[in-house]
Amino acid sequence: MEPPRRVSRLWRTAKEELGVPAKVDRPLGVYLSGFPGKPTFTLGFVYSGTLGSERFRLKADEIERVDWLPAWRALGMTRNPFAKWAIVDAYRRGDLPEIPVHRQRPRSAMKPANGPVIFVDRDGTINREREGAVRTPAELAFNPGAKAALRALRSFGYRLAVITNQDAVAWGWTTERMLRRVNAKLIRGLATAGATVENVYYCPHELRDGCACRKPRPGMLLAACSDLAASPRDSWMVGDRPDDVLAGRAIGSLTAFVGDAKRREAFAVDLEDARPDLVVDDLAAFAKTLRSGRFAPPKRPAYT
Ligand SMILES: [Mg+2]
Ligand SMILES: [Zn+2]
Repeated sequence: MEPPRRVSRLWRTAKEELGVPAKVDRPLGVYLSGFPGKPTFTLGFVYSGTLGSERFRLKADEIERVDWLPAWRALGMTRNPFAKWAIVDAYRRGDLPEIPVHRQRPRSAMKPANGPVIFVDRDGTINREREGAVRTPAELAFNPGAKAALRALRSFGYRLAVITNQDAVAWGWTTERMLRRVNAKLIRGLATAGATVENVYYCPHELRDGCACRKPRPGMLLAACSDLAASPRDSWMVGDRPDDVLAGRAIGSLTAFVGDAKRREAFAVDLEDARPDLVVDDLAAFAKTLRSGRFAPPKRPAYT
């Protein structure tokens, strides 16, 4: 039977892109991309379908590789924001296998709500980084202005979630129990200042563990987007390392690098690769920039 004309055009397009026969079943989502600095909006359609063969001849410009992959790996295989957002949405819907992550508070204690989220790195961004890690609650010291900045961001309508690599646990410099006490003190300190944090996600692994959660991998951000019903389209990842920026870019969120002139200089080469949307001195400067409206998230279209 002949497919309806509009569908057959989609089949043809899919075949041109992938180099194999493809049958498009149904739309998964319609996405509107409107990034700061771009005067126009782009509409993206993402479909599910069935491929006639696994021997791909990909067009080189958009799709870099096709493979059977977990969500966090798939995110690293495309630069297309529509594809990234579709993967995050599929993960949020529970269509993709769950990635185990470490949460300070159980998921059941979190209130689901819609709206943008600012994902914030912990050490060096909210609190002072210490040589050899922050190992005990007594060693936790907030950066000047960080609490006020996070409170301001909440008043702009953002929820906050902390996303932190803690390889000090894997190295035995501290214990997970002690890490959780440090996180609890951080949450309390911020709450007292009116900067309520929804949760802290932490990776207690080290690089060689090959886990899905260690930034720049996006496992913790995927879990947080799912827990918080957040869309990367209007959310931010903010941190003081290029790996923070890369993790944010992996899910297609907006990204900000925080660091003074000296730190920017030290990471100049990596930052060129990571391409953050925004580079600022600290969280206070980040909040100020968002208040200026220059980086206000685009209005969420009704049909996504
Ligand atoms: Mg950091
Ligand atoms: Zn991990």
